[in-house]
Amino acid sequence: MITGKERNLLIDTGFNREECLRAIQEAFEEVNASLSDTDFFITHLHADHSGLVAKLAGDDSKVYCSPADGALVNLLHDPDYWDEMMELFGRHGMPEPEEDVHKGEHPGRKFNGRKNIDFAFVQDGDVISVGDYRFRCIMTPGHTPGHICLYDEEKQILFSGDHILGDITPVISISQAAEMVCHGRSGSPYASPAGRGIAVR
Ligand SMILES: [Zn+2]
Repeated sequence: MITGKERNLLIDTGFNREECLRAIQEAFEEVNASLSDTDFFITHLHADHSGLVAKLAGDDSKVYCSPADGALVNLLHDPDYWDEMMELFGRHGMPEPEEDVHKGEHPGRKFNGRKNIDFAFVQDGDVISVGDYRFRCIMTPGHTPGHICLYDEEKQILFSGDHILGDITPVISISQAAEMVCHGRSGSPYASPAGRGIAVR
């Protein structure tokens, strides 16, 4: 979380489950910040990053996300979406659908936000200012179709979401949204490659 005089910015929220909610509430108490003065930035659609935002965001909160991943966050609680994903996986050669997905035990299905978010969509190059920080949005599709990193060039701080993962693969996966994004763009999944090659020290 970044605190500012007027607004705070919480970058990603964790799963929609009690333990995560408690941890966030305790963190806000610790720094004496209020959720009602807070905006949210969702780096990507996965429920361990977006799941709680529907509960945390107030009427005055902005919830930033890319158009591609924002659309998908709002599909995560739609049962038809999961059926379509199973169909997609089958078309791409997955032999047997995973049982846990059908039973609703997949964490992306079990711990998502359960309701639609009215996102403030951001694009590559947009700047979000909070307190003394100025974060530039860097589109980094791959882990998800609309994954975004936040970078404060002056302070050399990068919030990388799941674009960079310590000792595991960053999981470049297929998704329904990736197919939609690719469609009609000459096979390129990148709407705007500008800025993606920036060097981050
Ligand atoms: Zn992820």
